[in-house]
Order: sequence, then C-alpha cells, then structure tokens
Amino acid sequence: MTPPGLDAPPPLGASALPAGTYAGQVVVVTGGGTGLGKAIATEFGRLGAAVGIASRDPDHRAAGVASVEAAGGTALGVACDIRDADAIAGAFDTITAELGPINALINNAAGNFPVPAEDMSPNAWRTVVDIVLNGTFLCSRDLARRLIPDGKPGAIVNVGASYAWTGGPGFAHSAAAKAGVKNLTETLAVEWAPYGIRVNGLVPGLIPHADEVAAIAAVPGKYIGQDDRVPAGRVGEPRELAWAATYLCSPYASYISGHSLVVDGANWQRRHTVQPAFTPIREQLGRPPFGQGG
Ligand code: NAP
Repeated sequence: MTPPGLDAPPPLGASALPAGTYAGQVVVVTGGGTGLGKAIATEFGRLGAAVGIASRDPDHRAAGVASVEAAGGTALGVACDIRDADAIAGAFDTITAELGPINALINNAAGNFPVPAEDMSPNAWRTVVDIVLNGTFLCSRDLARRLIPDGKPGAIVNVGASYAWTGGPGFAHSAAAKAGVKNLTETLAVEWAPYGIRVNGLVPGLIPHADEVAAIAAVPGKYIGQDDRVPAGRVGEPRELAWAATYLCSPYASYISGHSLVVDGANWQRRHTVQPAFTPIREQLGRPPFGQGG
C-alpha cells in the first residue's frame, strides 16, 4: 500500500501569523500578478500589508491587485521592468508616494523556458540572467538605498530554485542565475544586517498554478502523475510558499538572515539506490539531434 505522504495544508485564508501582522507595512512583490507571486502578495495583504505589485503586464498587475483586495488587503499595481534600474526607482517612488515607505521586498519575478544549452541563443541567456539575477540585485539595491539613510529596518526575500545547488539540465540560464541569487542572498545578508535589513532566500518545489508560462507548461509529460513524483506524495500549494514568505519577513523571523528556505516536500534531495535510466535533455524535451533540425 502506498503510504499517505505529507498532510494537506490548512485551507486558503488560514494564517499562522497573528491578524494584522503587517498592518501599516508596505510590501513590494515583483511579478506579484501571477502564479506564486500572486499567492505571496495575497497572503501579505491578508495580514494587513499594503502591497505594491511591480511587473510589466497591466493585466497581470490587475489580477494581483484583485486577489489582494479579495483577501481584504490594499494593493497598487505599478509598471516596472526589473532589468531597468531607473524603472525600478520610478516604481518604488510611486509605491512610496501612494502607499508609504517600503518595508519589505519579495524578489519573485523571473523569466524561464527549457532549452538545451547548445541551442541557447546569446539573447536567451542574457534575458533570463538579466531578469533573474540582475533584476533581483537592482531591486534589492534600490530598497537598501532607501532604508539605510533613514535608519529603517527591512526584509528582503529572494525567490529561488533548487537547481541553484544541483544545476538544472535544460535550464542552464535560469539555474546559473538562481545560483547567483542564492549567493547574492548570503552576501547581502552580511552587508546589510548592521542596518537591520534581513535578506533570505525562498525556494519553491513543484508548485503548479494556473499562470504557468506556455514554454514550461509544454514540457512533455509535465502534468502526468505529478503527485507521485514527489516524496511528499503531493505537489505543493501556492499558499504553502506564501505562508513561508510572510513568516520570513515577520518579526518572528527576526534572527534569520542569509538562509534559503526550501519548500518542496523533500524533493530536491531525492536519490534512488539505483538511479533510473538516464535520458539526455534533448530527448526529454522531444528535440531532434543537434544540427538535424533541432
Ligand atoms: P510566473 O507565473 O511565470 O511569474 C513570473 C512573473 O515575473 C510574472 O508575474 C511576470 O509579470 C514577472 N516578470 C517577468 N519578467 C519580468 C520583468 N522583466 N520585470 C518585472 N516582472 C517580470 O512564475 P511562477 O511559477 O509564479 O514563479 C515565481 C517564482 O518562483 C520565480 O522566481 C520562479 O523562478 C520560482 N519558482 C517557481 C516554481 C514553480 O513550481 N512554479 C519552481 C521553482 C521556482 P509580467 O509578465 O507582468 O512582467
């Protein structure tokens, strides 16, 4: 008989943190209008934060604002491409003017698609690294430059991926960028602790959601037997990641900085005593041999 796996989480709307934990606080979530970012924005809003949702697509931002408001929170969508330092400064200025000084930042935005490394264009490499690594640095730097002169504390959470530790075949650009984000988290935690700014990583496992980009959703076999592919016996729920984000930014995590918290049902450490047959990445992605139409 298959063992039951990990328990289901409490229902959407529940919270381990006291109601109003973030009352009077302003939290920015990059990419907070879709998927996991939207779930994170929503949980901060539920706990009383005014949430700034920074991303490029107005429809995404509107969806994020609507979700936060449905949870009883306040939200503002601001146009921002996190590859552009001036755009970040402008967006953070708008959020500060409309909602108040920013207390916490969730660097959640990312771009990603699977491609064998030998097929990857220079533009594809640069674009993903620019969004994931450079964008995370630029947003973090902008917030620190606001907090430090004012002597204000703050919290930053960088959403990562476990292939930062292992490498990620098919995702060389994203995996390298996420490894950079994990390393950056550790550096900034040390540099900014003297100013009262905590910096942590938050690493989702297999957490499906309705907004997954087409290139990820199209990976062959992605949605077949997902629960069975995790030691937990089930995939994660977006709210499980979002609760971790609200904890990491809260006063109850006051001595946690420079840590990357993995929320993945023990998936990334899995090993078989005898590994299953190896499948090269081109084959996994259904691509013909390099140079033969691939
Ligand atoms: P998603 O739905 O594709 O969301 C990505 C978000 O990033 C979008 O809201 C997008 O908004 C924003 N974005 C992309 N480029 C941007 C740019 N240049 N400037 C500003 N915003 C930008 O992704 P997700 O699945 O929710 O993933 C959220 C985070 O979790 C990412 O960091 C991802 O790497 C990580 N993660 C997810 C999983 C999973 O199972 N889902 C697993 C491991 C790690 P706009 O289009 O409006 O700009």
